[in-house]
Order: sequence, then structure tokens, then C-alpha cells
Amino acid sequence: MSPEEFRRHGKQVVDWIADYLAGLESQPVMSQVKPGEIRRALPPEPPEHGEPFEAVLTDLGRILLPGITHWQHPSFFAYFPSNASGPAVLGDLISSGLGVQGMLWVTSPACTELETVVVDWLAGLLDLPARFRTDAAGGGVIQDSASSACLIALLAALHRAGGGQVAAEGVTRRYTMYVSSQTHSSLEKAARIAGLGTAGVRVVDVDPDTLAMDPGHLRALLDEDAAAGVVPVMVCATVGTTSTTAVDPVAALGAVCRERGIWLHVDAAYAGVAAICPELRWLNDGVAEYADSYSTNPHKWLLTNFDCTVLWVGERAPLLGALSIQPEFLRNAATSTGSVVDYRDWQVPLGRRFRALKLWSVIRWYGAEGLRAHIRDGVRLAQDLASWISADPGFEVWEPHPLGLVCFRPLWPGLPAAEADHATMRLMELLNASGSMYMTHTKVAGRVLLRMAIGGVATQRRHVEQAWEHIRWEHAALSASLPGHS
Ligand SMILES: *Cc1c(COP(=O)(O)O)cnc(C)c1O
Repeated sequence: MSPEEFRRHGKQVVDWIADYLAGLESQPVMSQVKPGEIRRALPPEPPEHGEPFEAVLTDLGRILLPGITHWQHPSFFAYFPSNASGPAVLGDLISSGLGVQGMLWVTSPACTELETVVVDWLAGLLDLPARFRTDAAGGGVIQDSASSACLIALLAALHRAGGGQVAAEGVTRRYTMYVSSQTHSSLEKAARIAGLGTAGVRVVDVDPDTLAMDPGHLRALLDEDAAAGVVPVMVCATVGTTSTTAVDPVAALGAVCRERGIWLHVDAAYAGVAAICPELRWLNDGVAEYADSYSTNPHKWLLTNFDCTVLWVGERAPLLGALSIQPEFLRNAATSTGSVVDYRDWQVPLGRRFRALKLWSVIRWYGAEGLRAHIRDGVRLAQDLASWISADPGFEVWEPHPLGLVCFRPLWPGLPAAEADHATMRLMELLNASGSMYMTHTKVAGRVLLRMAIGGVATQRRHVEQAWEHIRWEHAALSASLPGHS
């Protein structure tokens, strides 16, 4: 494809995306295809001869689009938002166009140095501690996901806990990590990858009302493990759990970690970016005093398309100790002087995309003010939704709901718990199958809760109002059809 051909097709693609986004609202939010339907519509063999690019665009609309769940749809309330704002998409397109592989500073100095600037900017916007800045002992880095960020934190923590021996000798002792039942499953995955195994994951109790990790129980587990000769590596506190956005008491957990010399990682994948608003800075309580590492996902709520997680560490030495290897083929003068950052040492893969471009585009396009406005809109709409739900005697809201996620339960008078949960799931399936909205569920204390996460780039008040009307209407219809309601 020559640059001229690229120009022509590139414009077609940008037009296609703009038309797609402009027309999204009339599409069913959740794809309604059956398993195998998309695959069967595609040829089993690749073409022998090249085809015009228009053929790709035709099949995109004809075959693939029905199999797309529209994450950018204004009525997408499932999981957490995964915002692909215009400036983010364009920044990512430039990254693709440059085709840079930024494993080392020398392989594209701007790729590394822009990343350093942007993660330092974000640390400032979120009011994170000065030791997380690159000109201090720590620094930030863009990872592909929160899962990777937590794995990297664990590897650095393991390096420190093992007295620097783990990189060379492997996991020769029994090491443990501390989470709660509300911690993201990626932490258990990280423990498996790092060699601690699921057996090395200790589950600390949570407060049944707030679902926050109990520091007293953490202390008790640590005492038990110390008596058994196990080496504690890391505690993962979550700020904004995936299930209900519960917030662990970072300061109290941090005090325990400090006392015992244990690494504290704070996983704030969804909620962390909200600290850009001064009124939500309480989300950072305890981070400045105690966190050894901290991660949050601009690719959830902060208008940056997947993938973009930022991980900060207070000290980069254990991270580099755990991951840095110098093969001959990567040797270069800049690295040897020690005056540059090589982000390959801060992640699992060698190669890396120029992700800083999209975050830079987003921050410049919106400005701090625009980013704050987006977070505030999501919080405001969620709070309004929660007030409508709690005012309706047919529903119950899960408290607290300080951010953009509202969890709630429709009530089914007369139905025992298991049947009520079944009816709740049925309600959600009917709503999702209607195409008018998409939400997901969770379980708390064994009971089903519905989750509506607000904060999409295109979501407006009317979309939330329509969704709520639809939920009420469908709940009334389903209630009337249940036995005993003839
Ligand atoms: C979403 C989420 C994750 C996982 O995010 P990825 O970036 O998809 O790996 C981890 N922790 C929490 C608290 C989350 O909400």
C-alpha cells in the first residue's frame, strides 16, 4: 500500500469510524449472535490474491458488525466503561502509523521520554506522592493492563522479600501474598505466574457491610504465617473493587505492612483516575504514606482506549533487580551510561507500543478540567440513578456507591432467596437481549446484585433515565408473570 493509497483508504476508515460512532445509538448494545455464527460467515482459507481494501470494509459492516458488542454505546453499563474517545483513537492511530517499537530508549527516544512526561503529569493530576516521579527514586510506566501491573508489583515485591535472590534462584521458599475475597482475580493469576501458587494466596476477611479488607485479620494471618516460617511478600489493597467499588483501608493496612516490612500494592484500576477531582482525593488516603506501588487504568474511566494502565513504584531498584537482563544484542551506549530509562525492564514483554501518544492526546485535548468534568458527570448520573432506585419500593440499592457504579437488587416479594436471584438474572437477561442496554451482575454474600456502571464517553442523562424506566417496566412485567401474581 503506497502512501497515496494509504491516504485514500485511511480517510475511508476514519469516515467509517465517525459514521459508526454517530449511528451507534440505533444499534443493539449487546451483540445478539450465536456462538460460531461469525466464524461460519468467514472463509476458512485466506485469499491467495490481494483484495481491494473496500472488500475489508464491506465485510466489516456485513459480517463483523453484528458480532460486535458496542462498548462505546451510550447505553453500555456493563463491567466498567472502556472509553475510546476521539483524541485517544487518533493518538493510537499515530502510534500505529509511526510503527515504533519502544523497548529501549535508543529505539526511539521520544517514545520513552514522552511516556516519562505523561506518567509524571498523571501522577501530578492525581496528587500521587513525589517518590512516584521519575526524577525521584521511583517512577511510572504504562502497562497493557492492571493484571500486568499487579504481576510486576508482585515480582518487585518478591525480589525485595527474597533479599534479591529470587531472580537468580527462583522461588525456593514458601512465599505468601494477601488479598481479600473482593480482590481482582488477576492477583491470584499473578501469584500462579510468579510461582507462589494459589496456595500462596491468603484471603483476608472483609467487613460484611463495606466489603473492605479487615486489617485486624490481616495481622492475625501474618502472625500465623510467621509461626509457620512462611515469608510474606505483598499485600494488595484495592481502591474501588470490581464487584461493588469497595475501598480497602489503605492507611490501616499500610501501617501493618510497614511494621512487618511487607510490600503494599494498591490496585485502583477503575477508581484511581477519579482522584483527578479534588473532592474524590480521599481515594488516595494512605497511598502517600504507605504504598510501595500503585496502579490505575486510564483505559477504563479516563477516556483512553484499551490498553493503557499506569503503574507507579516508590522505588524502581527492586523492579529492575527482578526484571533487568542485558543480552549482548540489546547493548548500546545510551543504556551503558545509565542516563536513560529502558522501559523493557519495567514489564514482562521486551517489545512495547507507543501508548503514551494516546494518553498525551487525551490529556491535551480535554485538559485537566475536561477530564474532571467527565468523571464528575459519571458520578453525578450514578448518584441520581441510585436515588431513583432507592426511592422505588420495588428495589434495593447496595450502599455505599461513591463513584460511577450502582449495584442494586430488584425485590420479588414472596420468593425465597434462590428463586429471587433466578428472577433477577432473568430480568437482566431480558433487558440485555432487548438490545436497549447492557448491564452485568455480581454476587455479594451469595446473593445476586445487578451492576450499572456509568461513565461512558457518550452516555447522557437521558440514556440513564431510559435504562431505569426500562428496568422498572420489565421488573413489573416479570413480577406479574410470576406464580402467585395472576
Ligand atoms: C478491571 C480491574 C482489573 C483488571 O483490569 P485489566 O486492565 O483488564 O487487567 C484489576 N483490578 C481491578 C480492581 C479492576 O477493576
